[in-house]
Amino acid sequence: MRFSGRNRQVNKSHEYLGEREFNMGKLDFLDDLIQDLRDKNLYNTIRTIESALDAWIQIDGKKALNMCANNYLGFANHPRLREAAQKAIDQFGVGPAAVRSIAGTMTLHNELEEKLARFKNVEAAISFQSGFVSNQAVIPTLTGPDDVIFSDELNHASIIDGCRLSKAKSVRYAHNDPADLDAKLKEYSHARNKLIITDGVFSMDGDIAPMDEIVRVAEKHDAMTMADDAHGEGVLGRGGRGIGDHFGLHNKIDIEVGTMSKAFGVVGGYVAGKKKIVDYLRQRARPFLFSSAATPADVAACSAAVDILTESDELVQKLWANAKSFRTRLDALGFDTGVTQTPIVPVMVRDTAKAVAFSKALFENGIFAMAISFPTVPRGTDRLRIMNSAIHSDEDINFAVDTFRKVGIELGVISE
Ligand code: PMP
Repeated sequence: MRFSGRNRQVNKSHEYLGEREFNMGKLDFLDDLIQDLRDKNLYNTIRTIESALDAWIQIDGKKALNMCANNYLGFANHPRLREAAQKAIDQFGVGPAAVRSIAGTMTLHNELEEKLARFKNVEAAISFQSGFVSNQAVIPTLTGPDDVIFSDELNHASIIDGCRLSKAKSVRYAHNDPADLDAKLKEYSHARNKLIITDGVFSMDGDIAPMDEIVRVAEKHDAMTMADDAHGEGVLGRGGRGIGDHFGLHNKIDIEVGTMSKAFGVVGGYVAGKKKIVDYLRQRARPFLFSSAATPADVAACSAAVDILTESDELVQKLWANAKSFRTRLDALGFDTGVTQTPIVPVMVRDTAKAVAFSKALFENGIFAMAISFPTVPRGTDRLRIMNSAIHSDEDINFAVDTFRKVGIELGVISE
């Protein structure tokens, strides 16, 4: 039965039913797609967190040790960040209410950008609403149809989408392979501008891009370089200054993209590098021109995170000590922790159903560690991705190792 336009106007309470009947069948394909995800164990059920993000959280009605947040340094509920956010709300209110280029920018945003540039030891920085958005901002603004982007085959989805938006030709090079990059650059030597893009730390495996070699290859071919340091900020380099500092490449990586939603504990992103790049992004980056800025509370909390990291590397040291202890002990138990070089510890299971079962059993035993499968990682490389944090105590790590051992044996991930 169809509702006529007249009926729908007269009887508003039936409007929804009318639409549904009118459009019957149009969305049926989604039922098939969702069922397909369920059949393949790829339907993601998101757990609900009912507390602040501390080492232990209240989640789905249960207390659990959080081993999957990117809260590397515990900033997500740090008293100084909370205080900074609260003060910013008192002084500036809750939102910027417009894009910066149209309605003005708050001192808070300018201060954060200056602090970030100093912290990273580069000429300038510009902040965005997230790390994802930062990649959408910088890649299409610096490259277009006559250019070629050389992108590591395991780069993050936000880089891949940024490349698509740019309409430049995208050439994938073999993961962390400067020789293959060199060969691909030779092949496309005619390109107008060349941009090499890599994750700094690969988020699902925890390995580090060989940025020193990549910069050498780039110099040979006169190509720009960009590192997405989402998992290097607050983690790599002196006091968490990131991948540039880790390799002593200050001002040699043309573009460093960062996120403030991981080690910085808040939300937001930025691009740091040469002044003229940042200047041009302020003029032409679409997320800067067409989307409102981050809130005063977010920006002030990020600023406080930079202050803490500038004052002391204590949390960064603790993070690395925790990660080393956890990984060494898991390896000794026979778990396969892949190629990680950072506090990201993948626990390889290589089977979707088994990874889901492992995650569920850990949760029942008090550990929150989600299974990660396709499309976040390639098919057949299902894993739990463990994120170590400076706020885990020694007892927490002992508990985690003991629980992984018990559940790993029960599910046959390791043998006794
Ligand atoms: N780049 C990389 C390498 C990431 O891992 C992530 C987060 N998953 C992002 C960008 C996106 O950052 P954000 O969460 O701030 O949008």
